Amino acid sequence: MLIPINEFFRTLPQKCCAKCGEVVEEQADCYTTICENCHDFVTYPIGQK
Ligand SMILES: [Zn+2]
Repeated sequence: MLIPINEFFRTLPQKCCAKCGEVVEEQADCYTTICENCHDFVTYPIGQK
């Protein structure tokens, strides 16, 4: 059962921003799945409130 490549990508789960939960487009960066709006907050130390 071969699946068309475009259908294969459609079945992939959408990435969601780890911060705000917004759907993030697939990107080949080394960051965790975070949307552009939250990238500014990445530099904040984790665990600090
Ligand atoms: Zn976000």
